[in-house]
Amino acid sequence: MLGVENLTVRYGAQPALEDASVRFVPGTFSAIIGPNGAGKSTLLKTLVGLTTPTTGEVVFTDGGSVQDDVAYVPQQQTLDWAFPVTVWDVAMMGRTGRVGWLRWPGRADREQVAEALRQTGVYDLRGRHIGALSGGQRQRVLLARMLARDARVLLLDEPLTGVDAGTQEQLMALLRAQAGEGRAVVMVTHDLEQARRWCDHLVLVNRRIIADGTPEEVYTPRNIEATFSSSHLGHTHAEA
Ligand code: ADP
Ligand code: MG
Repeated sequence: MLGVENLTVRYGAQPALEDASVRFVPGTFSAIIGPNGAGKSTLLKTLVGLTTPTTGEVVFTDGGSVQDDVAYVPQQQTLDWAFPVTVWDVAMMGRTGRVGWLRWPGRADREQVAEALRQTGVYDLRGRHIGALSGGQRQRVLLARMLARDARVLLLDEPLTGVDAGTQEQLMALLRAQAGEGRAVVMVTHDLEQARRWCDHLVLVNRRIIADGTPEEVYTPRNIEATFSSSHLGHTHAEA
């Protein structure tokens, strides 16, 4: 289980997240949903240690370490798409850490990378320079890099931005299958309807956790209003 307990994160005076407690468990496809500025990215960054809690804590109880067992796809990609590497090289970064390899990849690494590229539908593009890819192909390559890590927890921050509707459905099915294999899959999204169809755990957030549970429990007019109506910001509570 990876989660946060009574997490508050302040960048300045105003908290980005306040007293948030939420858990993500193996075998579950979770969606974190909320408007711009709700603290969604802050929650993921705190889970992977890129942001420090002001108060509260990150809890990881599955043994191992966040560093070894959690794969993270950030929202604003820092990858330099002009860098002269191929699709294969980027996916291999999931195994070796970065370009300018820390270690020489072995056969198991190559098999893992090939499988990740097949799963995301870009194996045939493996020799192509990443600068020559469309936006949707780039997102697939980033997902392949994440899958290549073979981590037990997958955290994705709006991974379907710029991806066409048909491909979005394919990638949601892929992520759901990852949860079916026993991974904890956590995705940040704006798309409540899509999350409701594909995910078995929804977390509505707007600076506080507004609601947390199954789609049936969470998807109520009152919760949706509390999450997306800015007049409620900071004055909202989950339904009993
Ligand atoms: P979301 O991902 O839901 O859009 P974020 O977690 O990115 O929200 O941001 C939550 C709030 O914290 C926003 O008001 C944002 O402007 C602020 N914020 C995020 N990162 C920083 C930062 N590094 N420094 C200062 N403020 C930040
Ligand atoms: Mg964000």
